[in-house]
Amino acid sequence: MKQVVYWFKSDLRIHDNEALHAAIQSDRPLAFIYIWDPLQDLPTRWGTLKIGAHRKKFIFECLQQLQHQLRSLNSDLHVLQGPSDQAILEFCLSNQIDTVFTQSEYFPEELKILEQTRQALKAHEINIHLAGESTLLREIDLPFPLGQLPNSFTPFRTKVESQWKIADLLKSPHQFKFRPMNLSLSEEIQIPLAVHDSRTAIPFSGGEHHALQRLNEYLFERHDISRYKETRNGLMGCDYSSKFSLWLAHGALSPRMIYHEIKAYEQKHGGNESTYWMIFELLWRDYFHFAMQKSKSQLFQWAGLQVARCPPIPLDQEKWKNWKNGTTGQRFIDANMRELKATGFMSNRGRQNVASYWVHEYAQDWRYGAAYFEEQLIDYDPANNWGNWAYLAGVGHDPRGWRKFNIEKQSLQYDPDDKYQKLWLEQ
Ligand SMILES: Cc1cc2nc3c(=O)[nH]c(=O)nc-3n(C[C@H](O)[C@H](O)[C@H](O)COP(=O)(O)OP(=O)(O)OC[C@H]3O[C@@H](n4cnc5c(N)ncnc54)[C@H](O)[C@@H]3O)c2cc1C
Repeated sequence: MKQVVYWFKSDLRIHDNEALHAAIQSDRPLAFIYIWDPLQDLPTRWGTLKIGAHRKKFIFECLQQLQHQLRSLNSDLHVLQGPSDQAILEFCLSNQIDTVFTQSEYFPEELKILEQTRQALKAHEINIHLAGESTLLREIDLPFPLGQLPNSFTPFRTKVESQWKIADLLKSPHQFKFRPMNLSLSEEIQIPLAVHDSRTAIPFSGGEHHALQRLNEYLFERHDISRYKETRNGLMGCDYSSKFSLWLAHGALSPRMIYHEIKAYEQKHGGNESTYWMIFELLWRDYFHFAMQKSKSQLFQWAGLQVARCPPIPLDQEKWKNWKNGTTGQRFIDANMRELKATGFMSNRGRQNVASYWVHEYAQDWRYGAAYFEEQLIDYDPANNWGNWAYLAGVGHDPRGWRKFNIEKQSLQYDPDDKYQKLWLEQ
């Protein structure tokens, strides 16, 4: 009998994973792979890296945990190196595999890799079976076709909330049997090094187990969820916001799992504006994901979703260096940029301010800023990052035009006693 392989990409989890579920239901001997494609180590057209040290470490932590989980289910995770299409083809040919199961893609670069892989496999009569999405709402649950996605968030939210439909969680493979393929033991996954900074707001590790632990802690152990709306604009510490983005970005946590746990929390402890607000923010995430699916690569262009614009601004190297290194002389901006570089994370408040500074005070091409975030952020997510940057630059989904922040005012409002700035500039 022919065998099948499951290809993990940005869905590094076992729980609530629709594509994985489909692979298991095929009821054929199954192997699991992840591919580290050398494309990920190449510099971008902006002179930045695609993946910096903080995110690489986090991804390998997720992989290591997945490998342990699969081994506990009498299976294994094989990490292949090489261009995705070639690596997967070789693996399939040497293991009598005729079907590859993997999660659907809708981001332009990922779609391109998937298409190349599909072509390479097709030549050898190997099929790709796609399933699952990384959003809270599935596309089929939207009360309108994707092509009619509203051009701004509020009408999207209103429509979605008027016909609210969230799928149930899928059974975990722990609860049903699958047949592991008979392969030699894979190599132990090694975690690449990244410098650790003790001031970090994210003393967390990658992996599904840590994600579920954090979810339980944020909701049921510490009840932080019931204060979220008041604390979410904070700058310091682990608990002003959930930090779920770290795991969401790599698929180590399902947004539906967050949703159903919040509903369970509301049943037990009562709901309030804060419990609702977390779901509201997850809808922002969904909105950016659907918007990228609809607009394809347009959100990576200088003009974004706008029809016409003046030509792109040439890069000022001095400003670029100062912004990235946190040496602009604007303390609030510098503190945030130093936190990002040292830890791979920055609060939402910080992200809005440093983006506004780059785009409006420094008057630079917003795409350099987005590319630098892509390099540094552990929670980098193409739709959320480029969508938020375009939004702040006034070329995204925003009927009100560009968003310029008064940095001095923001700094006084959100860091009134200078604690955050002292932490990153003086310690
Ligand atoms: C310029 C800029 C770039 C950004 N880049 C990214 C990125 O690459 N990846 C990323 O996940 N988020 C990005 N965000 C959104 C937001 O800053 C982060 O999701 C949030 O800070 C993550 O921390 P948290 O999980 O503790 O958030 P919480 O406040 O606890 O929110 C819970 C979840 O809601 C979602 N969410 C919250 N705010 C937003 C938002 N503005 N847009 C979309 N989803 C949101 C996230 O999935 C988040 O994990 C960016 C925002 C800006 C302004």
